[in-house]
Amino acid sequence: MDIVDIINRDPKDVAKFLMHEFGIGANIDGKRLIIERKLTQEQISQKIQEYLETYVFCYECNAPPDTEIQKIGRTSVLVCKACGAQHPH
Ligand SMILES: [Zn+2]
Repeated sequence: MDIVDIINRDPKDVAKFLMHEFGIGANIDGKRLIIERKLTQEQISQKIQEYLETYVFCYECNAPPDTEIQKIGRTSVLVCKACGAQHPH
């Protein structure tokens, strides 16, 4: 899954998200995501898009991979390195 490189996220996080959303098992093999069920490319793309909107894109400036998830106390916060915006989850 090249998408994981592009968005600069741990493949495990993306896998966890997809597993939760689809209620399926998935494994990481190197950089490939192995999903234990047949899903269409469309289904996966749609979920990845949701993931991006929720966990990657900055809500303020829409900067894509210039964000990172930081743990502040017990909260995960999406921090934008481009504009400095912070969005708790
Ligand atoms: Zn921003």
